[in-house]
This record gives sequence, C-alpha cells and structure tokens, in this order.
Amino acid sequence: MSDDPCISLLRELVSIDSVNPSLVPGARGEGAIATAVAEHMRAMGLDVHVEEVERGRPNVIGVLEGLQPGPTLLLCGHLDTVGVEGMAAPFAPVDRDGRLYGRGAQDMKAGVAAMIDAVRVAVAHGFTRGRMVVAAVIDEEYASLGADDLVQRWKADLAVVTEPTDLKIGVAHKGFAWIEVVTRGRAAHGSRPRDGRDAILRMGRVLQRLEALDRELQARPPHPLMGTASLHASIITGGRELSSYPDRCELQMERRTIAGESGEDAAREVAAILEALQREDSELEAESRLTFARPAYELAPSHPLPGLLGAGLSSYGLSAETVGMSFWTDAAILGAAGIPTVLFGPGGAGLHGLEEYVNVADVVTCRDVLARLAVSLP
Ligand SMILES: [Zn+2]
Repeated sequence: MSDDPCISLLRELVSIDSVNPSLVPGARGEGAIATAVAEHMRAMGLDVHVEEVERGRPNVIGVLEGLQPGPTLLLCGHLDTVGVEGMAAPFAPVDRDGRLYGRGAQDMKAGVAAMIDAVRVAVAHGFTRGRMVVAAVIDEEYASLGADDLVQRWKADLAVVTEPTDLKIGVAHKGFAWIEVVTRGRAAHGSRPRDGRDAILRMGRVLQRLEALDRELQARPPHPLMGTASLHASIITGGRELSSYPDRCELQMERRTIAGESGEDAAREVAAILEALQREDSELEAESRLTFARPAYELAPSHPLPGLLGAGLSSYGLSAETVGMSFWTDAAILGAAGIPTVLFGPGGAGLHGLEEYVNVADVVTCRDVLARLAVSLP
C-alpha cells in the first residue's frame, strides 16, 4: 500500500514546507508545493492553470475534460499548513504501523494527494463524461484567500473538499466571527487612585458577561449537525508597568456560529453587553467591532451528492454516514458561491498538534471513492 502512487505523492507533499506565511511571519508559503503539484498534474496529462492569488502564492487547478458533455465535479483541498514549532522533523515523512507522520499529513496533504490521484484512477475506470476540476488552493489556515479567488474564476456543479473526515461524509459545519473589544481607562501613578481609571479591571466586567453569554449559548438547543454556538476569549493585552493604572485593555475573541447566525449577529450580542455595562456605570468606556467572519455551512438536506458518494463507500463495506464537522472549511466559500459541497477525507489524528498522522489505507480508499464518484455521476 505504501508504494501506491497516491502515497508516494503524499510523501512528496509532506516533505515540502508549506507553512502559511500569514499565520507564521516569514514562513515559506505555498510557492514550492504549488510548483510540485503543477508538475505532477502536467505529468498526468491535465490542463494546468497556475493562478497567483498573493505574490508567490498561487492556486493550482488541473482540468480533465471528458469526451462527452456532463457535470463538472470540483475536488478542492488546501496546500498550506499551520506552523511547526516544537516538532522534531515536520517535513520528514515517516511510515509506521500503517500511518504516515508529518506536518500536514492529515491536514490536508493526504486529501490533496487523494484528489489528484483520483483523476488517474477515474480515467483508468472509464471516466468519459463531464469534467473534473482539481483545485489545490492557498491560505485555508488563515483567511482562505485561495478559495475566495477560486470561486471568482471557476464554476462547478458539485464539489468535494477533501479535508479529514475519517471517511465520513461531512455535510455541515459551524462558522466563526472574530470580535475585538477595547476598554479605556486613564493612566495615572499607582499611588493616585482618584486620578487613575483601570482599563483592565473594566475589561474584567466584560469578561464576566462574556462567560455568562457562552454558558447561555451552550445551553440553547443544539443544531442537529453543528451542535451549539460558543465563544472564547482568545488574546488579551493591556497595561504598561506595575506602578501605573492601565489606560487601555484589548481583547480579541472568537464566537463560533451555527446556521442562521451571522458574524454581525454575534457582534451585536457583544455590543449589547457593553451597552448594558455602560448603563450601570457611565464611566465605563468600551467599544467593540467585528474584524472578520465566515459563515456556517450546510448542504441542502435533499441534495443527492451524499447518496452518490455513499454508494461508493458502501461498495468498500464502509458506512455512508453523514455528519457535521466541528471545524470551519473552504466548503462554506464554495457553498456560498452556489456549489453544493460535501467534505470527505481520510482519518488520522493530531491536526495542528505536535504529532500529526494520517491512516495510509484511508488515503487510498478516499482516492478510490472519489474516482468512483467522478465515473458514476449522473
Ligand atoms: Zn485543513
């Protein structure tokens, strides 16, 4: 199994540093891995488009046209990974006990290798109708610039994002909103309480209300596929020195949203908390703003795509279960662009952790099920 072309490609991809430079300043980015992917796709006979999104950070799109007209199936995965601090040999793929270890092995170079090699297997299994578009995109781990660019240029009838799903069919996931809260005080010497106003203690009141809001969100009836919304305080800064009243405290928080909630809705809840605190204390100076948001994703329940993919899974004796995923993905961007999308990828563990691996057999199964889907589309 480990000499399968799909696994050799996976090993090659893991060995190329593609840490996202927006996440980790100075990191290598997707340039080198994009070149390798483009070369591999060309060698397979695909029509390859290298589309620069940011300087030196291109999406790579490979296209296979069938002989007869038919649906366009988009397979999409991201080339970037999170950082590697603390990992001994992140770019030296290691095979052990049916697992392949390395940064990005599961998230998501395995999915990228599977979707690219699926084209080769689909052709071998008689792919003739429609079109396969295989898109390896940048920047999913930060702002998804790659997927945003992709949907401006490419259309498809159906899509599979090959993020890791343990070979289950992901049909929904949460969205998120990033919100910044600032409290202001008045700087003064620590010995002069009448002159000073403590911005950090004022933020403490905000934090208490946020904690109560989080409890309330998690007590609401859960969405059947997404669970409940939640929030957490991600980064907090404030204060200059021990003997001074801090004049400013800044909190960056994240709110995970479920279907029916927008980033603006989440920001309004936080603004309402600040307004309530200001009614209690007119000296409390605070403001909040939404800095970034991405919507939740849900495939229309009646859509045939999970059934088509599930038929392939059943033929391998695997369950064709549909599930909600906990993490956000580019599926939300494809879905918002009108492309019905599911998530389907191999199992493993250690996403964003110090020891990341993917199950080698799952990568091959994922590849085969994707190829079968391409051949069997109505
Ligand atoms: Zn990912």
